[in-house]
Amino acid sequence: MRRPLVVGNWKMYTIPVRSKELASSLKSNLGNCDWADIVVCPPFTSIAVVASELEGSTIEIGAQNLHWEKEGAFTGEISPGMLVDAGCRWVIIGHSERRHIFGETDDAVARKVKSALESGLKPIVCLGESLRQRDRGVTKDIVKKQLFEAIGDIRDISRITIAYEPVWAIGTGRTASPTQAQDVHRFVRKIIFENWGHDSAAAMRILYGGSVKPDNAVDLRGQEDIDGFLVGGASLKAGSFTAITTAVK
Ligand code: PEP
Repeated sequence: MRRPLVVGNWKMYTIPVRSKELASSLKSNLGNCDWADIVVCPPFTSIAVVASELEGSTIEIGAQNLHWEKEGAFTGEISPGMLVDAGCRWVIIGHSERRHIFGETDDAVARKVKSALESGLKPIVCLGESLRQRDRGVTKDIVKKQLFEAIGDIRDISRITIAYEPVWAIGTGRTASPTQAQDVHRFVRKIIFENWGHDSAAAMRILYGGSVKPDNAVDLRGQEDIDGFLVGGASLKAGSFTAITTAVK
C-alpha cells in the first residue's frame, strides 16, 4: 500500500508573516495527521519561519526550485545544501511554470533531480502536456519523454515522487477528469514497471496536480494510480488544503 502524499505549492504568494499564520493553521488542523504525508512548499523567504512554526508536527517542508550546483557565482539561484539547511526535505522540480515561463529544459530538470538526490532532498518531478499537445493526441509521448529525460538514467528511484500535472489544468479551474488522470497515471506506472521493475512501480507515488479542490479530490483519489495531490491555489487556504488532505484518506 502506498501512503498518500499531499503537497502544497504556495508559489509566489505569502510574505513571512502570512506564511506563519498559514503554517500555524495547518499545524492545528493536520499537525498529527496519521493517514498521509504532508509537505508544504513556501517561497524561499518564508522557509525558515514555516520550518520553525511546523516544528513538532509531521508536516514537512519543500522548496519550489533549486540550482544543481553546490555553490558558486550563480546570482539569484539557491543551492540544495541551502535548502536542506533551511529545513527543506523535499523539492519540486520541473513545474510547468518553470518550464514554460522560465524556459527550464529537460536537461536542467535532470541535473536538478540528480543534485537534489545527492543532497538528501526528495524530488517531486513534474510532468505534463500542454492543451495543444493533448489535442494533438501526443499526451503519452510527451509524458514519457519528460519522464525519461528527468530520471531515465537514475537506477534507484525510491526517493523520487512523480507529479502528473496537465498544463491546461494548472491554475485554470479546469481539472482533468478522474478517468483522464488515471489513464496517464497508469501509463506512468507501466513505464516504471517496464524499466525499473515491479517493486519500484508498486512503491512509486504518482501525484495529480491541476485545479485540485476539496470537491474534486475524492473522485480523483478514488482512482487506483492516484496517490495524492500537488495542490497550488487551494493550498493557500488552510481550510481547503485540510479538506483535500482529508479526502485522500
Ligand atoms: C500547481 O501549482 O502545481 C498547481 C497544480 O496549481 P493549481 O492547483 O492552482 O492548479
